[in-house]
Amino acid sequence: MILTDRRALMRMMGSAGLAAGLPFPAFAQQPEPRNLLAVPSFPDHPFKLGIASGDPASDGFVIWTRLAPLPFEPHGGMDLKPVAVGWEVAEDERFTGVVAKGTALAHPELAHSVHVEVAGLRPDRPYWYRFRVGSEQSAVGRSRTMPMPGARVDRVRFVAAGCQHYEQGHFTAWRRIAEEPVDFVFHYGDYIYEGADRGPGQFKVNGRSYDPVRRHIGTEIYTLDDYRRRHALYRSDADLQAAHAALPFWMSFDDHEIDNNWASDFDQDGTPAEVFAFRRALAMQAYYEHMPLRRSSIPQGSHMRMFRAAQYGDLLNAFILDTRQYRSDQSYGDKIMPLGPEVYSPYRTMMGDAQEQWLFDGLTASKSRWNLIAHQVMVMNLMQRDEAATTTEKTYAMDQWPGYMHSRRRLLDHIDTHCPGNVVNVTGDAHRHYAGDLVQDNGDGKVISSEFLATSITSGADGQGDQDGYSRQVRTDNAFLKATTDQRGYVLCDVGRDVWTADLKVLDRVTVPDGKLSTYARFAIERGKPGLHSA
Ligand code: FE
Ligand code: CA
Repeated sequence: MILTDRRALMRMMGSAGLAAGLPFPAFAQQPEPRNLLAVPSFPDHPFKLGIASGDPASDGFVIWTRLAPLPFEPHGGMDLKPVAVGWEVAEDERFTGVVAKGTALAHPELAHSVHVEVAGLRPDRPYWYRFRVGSEQSAVGRSRTMPMPGARVDRVRFVAAGCQHYEQGHFTAWRRIAEEPVDFVFHYGDYIYEGADRGPGQFKVNGRSYDPVRRHIGTEIYTLDDYRRRHALYRSDADLQAAHAALPFWMSFDDHEIDNNWASDFDQDGTPAEVFAFRRALAMQAYYEHMPLRRSSIPQGSHMRMFRAAQYGDLLNAFILDTRQYRSDQSYGDKIMPLGPEVYSPYRTMMGDAQEQWLFDGLTASKSRWNLIAHQVMVMNLMQRDEAATTTEKTYAMDQWPGYMHSRRRLLDHIDTHCPGNVVNVTGDAHRHYAGDLVQDNGDGKVISSEFLATSITSGADGQGDQDGYSRQVRTDNAFLKATTDQRGYVLCDVGRDVWTADLKVLDRVTVPDGKLSTYARFAIERGKPGLHSA
């Protein structure tokens, strides 16, 4: 990917721009490698893992695909040589007006994935894209450029979703998301789950044993090939492919893309940090290979840059956080525990100093009507009694923001001081919907911000609704919590200039195909008046 000859780069940028008839140079073509596969041929259709777009800007977005004619075979059924893949972007679905095109290289080092950063497009409109290799053509994808920063924008809509355990349900929610008239999807993480294939009766939810709806392949994933095959398995799902083809995604990872509840250099099993780093590097490589991410997110060893910001005109600034890679290890054995002294330690962090400063600076400088903090785990200080524990003490999830109380206080203080009344948090991870307000744990109960925690796409299987013991307990014990239900679905946000509305979408079943979608609850937040109310 590294271009060593800058003059050759400039020549190619010029010719690519001219070839596409663009006012600006298009995406730089790369020099032809000596081992390029001259005449590509494939044992089967090479675009079986679909296409995707992501990380939009006001003049473009990333388009992605991966050549994998035999997705579960070694190397995806590809020869281990680079392959040239043609791409086109048009202003219409039938490609009568192609406005950008070029050739990108699918490298065997990156599992023959293709990431093209399309630029030079017009703001705030849909575009369509497709890939071609040899005589084969991909499906057509639709993406969207963002409005110009600062331009007046009256409405932005988006979906927040994640936690898509393949064994525990059908991805019907992704099919429904593909049909939503939204500008983007925020994926909060748990795109894959790392666990082994489990036989019949081998997964348990709420004390009940279930048969997998469909099966993982193989053992818990550790090697690069394992991670690639797991991503390929998930990406072979038609509903997930439909969502990627329909909408640009802002991707973020949580824990299961690597290992359950990992934190910075630590996994959950006490593996030495320098050993876990190898696994993390491989998992991050496979993650990058399968996501529509910019080159700025290419992993460097066991690190990759995933926190980034997006500006939708003058309406919405979005801050996409990474609360896994820089956090301190979980306190108290990462269990549901009382808030002991360690969670208040100023030496423990959820975001790391650099990311926290970046977020705080961004929030302070933001002139948008609204600010979205899009992240992975619950911010609400939710008291939840651990049913397995013998104690009657108030207990909290140590993997979520309550386990990082010093960071949580700093975050809420910053919002309260610098952008009161215009910050909304969207999160996930907990496998049920939660909607509520954010108050300081040590304050006077003043509402500072609100949170919509989106339930899972499938993780947790069908769920039990909102009348189970846990749902009743958390509603009783936490006055700031306005709604929770244990069903699958997603959150749909509709951001206007003065009111932010959020629908908690649920499916009646995910263990059968084509579950029925409904809106469990709708909330609204008025700009300048922190706190959500029923709408
Ligand atoms: Fe999850
Ligand atoms: Ca998670």
